[in-house]
Amino acid sequence: MLRSSEGLRHVRYEIRGRLARRAHELERLGYEIISLNIGNPGLFGFRTPESLRLAMIENLANAEGYCHQKGIFPAREAIVMHQQARGVQGVTADEVFIGNGASELIDLTLRALLNDGDEVLVPSPDYPLWTAAVTLNRGRAVHYPCRPENGFIPDPEEIARLVTPQTRAIVVINPNNPTGAVYPRAVLEGIARLAESRHLVVFSDEIYDQIVYDGAQFVPMATLVRDTLCATLSGLSKVYRACGYRVGWVVFSGRLRGAGDYLSALELLSSLRLCSNVPGQWAVQTALGGYQSIQELILPGGWLYESRRAILSAIAESRYLEVKPPAGAMYAFIGVKTDEFADFDDQRFALDLLEQKHVLVAPGVSFNVPYRTHFRVTNLPDAPILKRVFARIEEVLAGYAASKRGGSKGTGSKGPDAKGPGTKGSDAKGSGSRDTIVEASGRFR
Ligand code: PLP
Repeated sequence: MLRSSEGLRHVRYEIRGRLARRAHELERLGYEIISLNIGNPGLFGFRTPESLRLAMIENLANAEGYCHQKGIFPAREAIVMHQQARGVQGVTADEVFIGNGASELIDLTLRALLNDGDEVLVPSPDYPLWTAAVTLNRGRAVHYPCRPENGFIPDPEEIARLVTPQTRAIVVINPNNPTGAVYPRAVLEGIARLAESRHLVVFSDEIYDQIVYDGAQFVPMATLVRDTLCATLSGLSKVYRACGYRVGWVVFSGRLRGAGDYLSALELLSSLRLCSNVPGQWAVQTALGGYQSIQELILPGGWLYESRRAILSAIAESRYLEVKPPAGAMYAFIGVKTDEFADFDDQRFALDLLEQKHVLVAPGVSFNVPYRTHFRVTNLPDAPILKRVFARIEEVLAGYAASKRGGSKGTGSKGPDAKGPGTKGSDAKGSGSRDTIVEASGRFR
């Protein structure tokens, strides 16, 4: 047998894992699946602003060769100016690296830092690439809780208790994926002071920085970190709805003195892959300057605002669900009331919802939480679709409640098999396939 690398043994990315593959299988059988498991704006009809597309097309002739390992100068310079406009001091184009999405830079920035067994503080729940990239690069992810009962806001004092002599860095995701929490300034200040006092590198993933609702205030971490290295990650994927362009960046600020060796290592890693996708980089300057069309989407009447509102009203009407209203990003991390279902299993539920109702959500356990009561949806579909989705979710949960009253064990296996609108119905093929997937995968992890 051809065995894969041992280094991948504990690396997980369930959002594109077995459930997503099963959804794909069902699609190939002709079922219409509503996929709420991934934040891909293009999938739901969002278009990249035309000015970005034109900037790229105009410059295609300048995009045929490799560029500098850190990225093209006009894009890096535009990122510097954008940082200045956000109140970040002391950054030049030298401290900017452009990558194939923030994803590549999450990997490279950790790879340049970590040695065997180094610890990185990562939020729980997290965007799971962070945990995966720490593991992939021989580190150990130590999760700090962002508890539902605290509105998913972390407590800097609790984080401080997790710091050990092996801790090298702390990851902050703000606005947060999956919870939508937007962290108050005082909390970010607390994390900044902790990182400074324990000489931790701060990795601040701010890819949703301009997606905030109802007046929530986003504070850039780099405006607060002075006495340690701060890496701010962002990109074109979300705010600019251009995730297929694969453009992300990392900007270093704070205590740059003493970081030369680390930054040279990152430059070496960047050189080994020669450069990142050049055509997409030509869209950066246009994206960051001038009118920001994301504003239209996040204000009342805008697509994202209204779809988020549809989720919140469906949950307000639900017998079984609860949520802390997301203040930012494009997700809701929804809890199932445990008084209704003490033995709720998020993966079982996600599978039942997929097989019975053809809706794909991401179970909470995919985001490195110790509890099994949550699931994540994106608010990228429009409000009418979300209304239909939540009606289907309610039916599955009502089925669980009915089977519980009927005395059967577990939360999943006796759910209703009602056909969703516009689907072929899942009863015949669905249940057989469901058994197959569970058998084949054991417990999914
Ligand atoms: N960081 C967060 C918090 C994300 O949610 C995502 C994508 O969903 C990424 C990074 C990856 O972004 P990119 O498309 O720039 O690789």
